Amino acid sequence: MASTYDLIVVGGGIVGCGIVERLRGELSRVCLVEQGPRLGSGASSAAIGGINPHLGDDCMGPLGLMAQHSRELFPAWIDRIASVSERAIPLLPTGLLQVAADEKELDRLANEVMPVLAGRGLGAELLDARQARAKEPLLGPGVAGGLFQPADLAVEPPLIMDALSRILTGPGGPELLLDTTVTAVETGAADVTVVLADGRTLTADRVVIAAGHLSRHLLGLPEDVLFPIKGQALEFAPRPGRALSVQCDSLVVDDAGEHVVFAVPRPDGRIAAGVTFEVGVDDTVPTEEARRTNLHHLSLIFGDLASAPVTRVWAGIRPGTRDAVPVLGHVDADRRILAATGHYGMGITLAPVTIDLAAKLLLGLPVTDDDQRDLDITRPDRFDQGGPSWARPTI
Ligand SMILES: Cc1cc2nc3c(=O)[nH]c(=O)nc-3n(C[C@H](O)[C@H](O)[C@H](O)COP(=O)(O)OP(=O)(O)OC[C@H]3O[C@@H](n4cnc5c(N)ncnc54)[C@H](O)[C@@H]3O)c2cc1C
Repeated sequence: MASTYDLIVVGGGIVGCGIVERLRGELSRVCLVEQGPRLGSGASSAAIGGINPHLGDDCMGPLGLMAQHSRELFPAWIDRIASVSERAIPLLPTGLLQVAADEKELDRLANEVMPVLAGRGLGAELLDARQARAKEPLLGPGVAGGLFQPADLAVEPPLIMDALSRILTGPGGPELLLDTTVTAVETGAADVTVVLADGRTLTADRVVIAAGHLSRHLLGLPEDVLFPIKGQALEFAPRPGRALSVQCDSLVVDDAGEHVVFAVPRPDGRIAAGVTFEVGVDDTVPTEEARRTNLHHLSLIFGDLASAPVTRVWAGIRPGTRDAVPVLGHVDADRRILAATGHYGMGITLAPVTIDLAAKLLLGLPVTDDDQRDLDITRPDRFDQGGPSWARPTI
């Protein structure tokens, strides 16, 4: 019997929706299954929106090259979905200032990060304290300097999800099953069966699993390979004359460990900031403690920013992986099930390259040498024999 669908995609986040949007017109019978009441119910609408290909230790290796590839694809991808959806999605060319809270961190940026960026032909600039404050006047008096990466971008992720949702719920969109949970994905001789929580089954020639941190259950991965990392963030109201000029990231170290301080401007003067990394936590309830610690760490870098009115707090769950690299590739010998998950704190940054690679694999298009390099590092079977060890969380 013929399958019901050419393709079923499980998960309506930036990865699942992006793949379905890319395949519009290429496959006729497509179904997108999302357990939430709307597309963008998961991490993708909770992201802050830095497009930062070379931020954090993980990006100093081949993941940074994959992310750079994605950064290059970003403007054209945003232009296209903004134009098809008739929604504005401002993409701000803010650059990224990695702020050194002390001399030791400035030293690390100068001697460990700068050479890698130079080796990649990127025009990064090392700044002393005075230059860093000139670049970002909201910085407090205590910062030691920084490293400015001019090519980084900033975007408001909920706007991307609104645009994708508008496209996918419009003419030519997939069959959309909202409020519908997939409990199992099983390969058979000729097709794949997708089992739903209400007992129904669907069949498809191929299935993409893009269910964020919950993909683990459908892929049968151990909990130390793919796991939740809760992130809590907040938004400050616009203040006349006190807008953030560049997006800033800093590591603050205290007795409790390392804390990421991240702040990204919005076009109307709002500032999205945070952010916590709570490994193994899978609820999306914002807590008073996280609000307090986020404000405290922000005040160490920005001085008076933390006293601005907070208009919103929220939490989302990143799909963390043991080596901080996504899981992208076929998981079965017949190449019917494609995993597209595990993007950690970089799923917005990595969305265009992930969508492009998934489309090539699903449509059987040729892959370039760069594509193959990216697919080699994201192979789902790399964890089979114990695999790479735990990496420090980064955003
Ligand atoms: C606070 C915070 C800040 C962040 N900031 C940034 C940033 O600045 N830059 C950046 O690049 N990244 C950032 N990220 C990371 C980014 O948000 C994620 O990597 C990305 O959104 C993952 O996308 P996804 O589509 O894989 O997952 P999701 O958006 O979580 O989508 C998965 C979807 O699958 C659905 N689903 C799950 N299980 C099932 C099932 N069994 N059946 C049906 N549906 C199911 C879920 O409901 C969900 O809608 C941030 C994340 C957080 C939490």
